[in-house]
Amino acid sequence: MTDPDELRRRAVELINKAAIVLRRNEVAEMEILDFGLGRPEVTGAQIVHIVDTDRLAVRLITLFPGQTEPEHIHPPDESGGKEETIRCAWGTLYLFGPGEPTPHPSTKPPAGETSTYTMKHEYILKPGDQVTFAPGTAHWFQAGSEGAVVWSFSTRADDVSDIFTDTKVVR
Ligand code: ZN
Repeated sequence: MTDPDELRRRAVELINKAAIVLRRNEVAEMEILDFGLGRPEVTGAQIVHIVDTDRLAVRLITLFPGQTEPEHIHPPDESGGKEETIRCAWGTLYLFGPGEPTPHPSTKPPAGETSTYTMKHEYILKPGDQVTFAPGTAHWFQAGSEGAVVWSFSTRADDVSDIFTDTKVVR
């Protein structure tokens, strides 16, 4: 198992390349996720919580080269559910959501997990590019060959209610 502190250190290197300044406590509290699958460099994410209020969530997500955040939805709830905008700050992000399957996508889901990835319409996000998903919209994403640093701006986030297509995922 990769040392979480090592993953955190490598994430900070990428965040520095994006010229984004974090406070020391934000780095210390960075979530190091393997989604319960035990292969953090394949399926995982390093997430800093920038804003977490009853109305708004801002996250800074760092992905290592080829690292994938697995397909999930933010379910609609009585407040309307979580609307999320994904914006690339650095690197390249391959983002998949609803729509016509892209004939020749730039990448594919992690080996052995393809059945739990149903969204096949690809967006290629470079720095400054962004896509907004309505609540209840399945999506997943993977970093390009240099990794990626990505903003997630959303309405209030209750991460534990996220529903992953892969039922083995633990959030
Ligand atoms: Zn999401």
